[in-house]
Amino acid sequence: MTVNRAVNGAPGGYPPGGAQARQARELLEEERRTRLAQLAVLEHADDGAPDEASLARRESLQGTLEEIDAALARLDDGTYGLCEDCGEPLPEGRLEILPYARRCVQCQQRRR
Ligand SMILES: [Zn+2]
Repeated sequence: MTVNRAVNGAPGGYPPGGAQARQARELLEEERRTRLAQLAVLEHADDGAPDEASLARRESLQGTLEEIDAALARLDDGTYGLCEDCGEPLPEGRLEILPYARRCVQCQQRRR
């Protein structure tokens, strides 16, 4: 647990239009393209008769795509990079691994 630095009213590191926001958007759009391509491959391979594993995989890809879209919306309204639950900025490392993360690790774990 890190020391709770005062962030009252402080914006996250991703003001809309800023360089970091642009970078995050590029990352998210790339993720989106990758997922869409994976989805297309799965759909093509299924040829109208998907098996259970393929359906589960597709569902998870669609879920991820929704998360990516939600993250892009947060970039637009300036809340990207902030934990949805506690409002603390997410550590950069977390966003590098999971650019569409909604919550910090602590809050995410509390939900499981
Ligand atoms: Zn949190």
